[in-house]
Amino acid sequence: MPPVGNLVTSDRVAGSVPLQMSNGLTSVLFEVLSIAGSDLAVSPWEKKLVYWLVCHDQERAGLGCVGFDVIEMGFSREGFYDEKRFVLSLVDAARRRHGWERLSYPPREESAFDALRHLGKLVDDLPIFALDPPLDADAWIPNELPDATCEVHGVYLHEAGCIVCNGAPIDAPPEHTPNRSLR
Ligand SMILES: [Zn+2]
Repeated sequence: MPPVGNLVTSDRVAGSVPLQMSNGLTSVLFEVLSIAGSDLAVSPWEKKLVYWLVCHDQERAGLGCVGFDVIEMGFSREGFYDEKRFVLSLVDAARRRHGWERLSYPPREESAFDALRHLGKLVDDLPIFALDPPLDADAWIPNELPDATCEVHGVYLHEAGCIVCNGAPIDAPPEHTPNRSLR
């Protein structure tokens, strides 16, 4: 049977257990991290990382096409420990339901918390020597800064809209989803 949903892996760490998620749970994970990240990012590295997270909107990238390996989060050798701390701070904020009132649906909390905990462990367990060798030039890593945010959700916009607007039910009022992708 082909895999369904998305995987977050840490293939350079022996014995790491991949996080496997349905497409629905994947959307919840990226939405809550995007909300926390858009509020908390300060440095260029942090903003690029959060922009990369919002671009994992499955409405933009395709259902089941947004799995990643934690090494692809763009960690640098110089900033590794601060960068890891930032990612873990987003996971913690999401686990405290930071901004969840901006979601247009109540997420299934148990699975969301399990996924956040699992992602946090994969990132926490990543050692600096896992950064070598460098990724291929065509790897999808954070490399762009955001230039706008959704006026309703406070989340960085990608070129096809807002990840939170796109996650809203199709019958949500248009004034609550001003940056829904037109598809
Ligand atoms: Zn929005």
